[in-house]
Amino acid sequence: MAAIEVWEPTTHPFWHGSAPMSYILNEAGPADMWVRGEGAWLIDASGRRYLDGRSGVGNMLLGYGRRDIAEAMFRQATELPFVCTMRRERSTPIAFEYAEALAAAAPPGLTRVRFAHTGSSAVESAILMARSYQRNLGRTDKDVVVGLRGAYHGTTMTTMAVSGLPVLHLHFRPMPAGFKHIPAPRSADCPLCQGVESNEATCADRLIAALESHGMERMAAVVVEPVNAVSGVPRPDHYLRALRDLCSRQGILLIFDEVFTGFGRMGKMFASELSGVLPDIMCLAKGITAGYAPLGAVVTTDEVYDVFNASESAYFAHASSTDGHPVSCAAGLATLKAFLQEDIVARGAEMGERLRGGIAHRLAESPLLAHVRAIGAYIAVDLVDFDGRKASMLTKRYLDQACEERGILIDYTPETVMIIPPLILTADEADLFAGRFAETVLSMKTDDVSRSSVRPGTLRGHR
Ligand code: PLP
Repeated sequence: MAAIEVWEPTTHPFWHGSAPMSYILNEAGPADMWVRGEGAWLIDASGRRYLDGRSGVGNMLLGYGRRDIAEAMFRQATELPFVCTMRRERSTPIAFEYAEALAAAAPPGLTRVRFAHTGSSAVESAILMARSYQRNLGRTDKDVVVGLRGAYHGTTMTTMAVSGLPVLHLHFRPMPAGFKHIPAPRSADCPLCQGVESNEATCADRLIAALESHGMERMAAVVVEPVNAVSGVPRPDHYLRALRDLCSRQGILLIFDEVFTGFGRMGKMFASELSGVLPDIMCLAKGITAGYAPLGAVVTTDEVYDVFNASESAYFAHASSTDGHPVSCAAGLATLKAFLQEDIVARGAEMGERLRGGIAHRLAESPLLAHVRAIGAYIAVDLVDFDGRKASMLTKRYLDQACEERGILIDYTPETVMIIPPLILTADEADLFAGRFAETVLSMKTDDVSRSSVRPGTLRGHR
């Protein structure tokens, strides 16, 4: 607490976040610090409580203050906090036990677990694994990795390159070679078919044409989120089926980025269960430890694994010293146990529907509400401005700020307003959240939203 009292942002060594520095230096203050969390609530330095409709940034699926997870981490940290798994040493019992439990919980056929340390490092590992896989099979020209436009996959150069977000490329260009992007489906009707009669055949044709335009014979892998995180829109089942079929026929690995969607956010343990389409590689992070420790995982098939075991000298030549950190694995195992014992996924989906219904009911007459959708515990509120056009980022920034003043935290992207609470939200909390959110929207007036009245955007808000 002492550090907060003497916090002087112009001289303090701490370099904060991804909001404009002028705001951090001139306007943010001690009250902009979180000091404690309890259940679904965050508490700031002034003691004010906020209901967390962001789960941190999608990580805190079991809420704050879980002693079972903290104690599991403590036990591991006192027993054996770290070993190096990059040389020849054996791993730790906790990594073995957790890998086994995770593989058992994973969709069928995903039997092998390679740990990473963040979501970005999991996707990075998956991409490098796919390129090495192709090379090990003698397909030395198959090295192009394809991503979908509008998708976000992480902060390393490789994961930014596969992300279909020009803003990331602009900040840090030039991007590495060997990455291509294809149009992404954005609604229940595949937009590859937009403007023409939408059916499964035309969708598949357009997908094939998009991939062919980049040369399918050169492709090592396609990376896709089964549900797009920034919009909350599932990729249509027929799109995923066509992609799966194409990848299998062309020897391309299908990578599902479930960093955000995994662990119950979408009403299923993994979002691939929504379509039943299975990837060759699944990337996990965020909710994997319910936010209590950094961890990522790449879960793959025997078929992929065996290609790295095909000769005496073969191996996957990529590892970071903190991949599969034992304390993080302890957090992961305790998290998984909680998911299974407390029926967390069903609970989250029930609260998601309650929140959606509460918001829809309270805002039924509001001219600003276009649509409120829930998929599991992801509630996407599509708003319009007073002129009827899709709500601007300025409006969403205003709403974000006004919600915060009412003690609830929301998130937003160019696509939608996201409410992604911890899955352990209670019914009373869901009702309270819906009430405060609706009050905030109903209180908005035409001239409330102006650049001078709204805090600046952040990197997260922009992508
Ligand atoms: N992939 C997706 C879909 C994400 O939403 C994120 C983070 O928001 C990442 C990858 C990167 O994960 P991390 O921030 O843990 O590196």
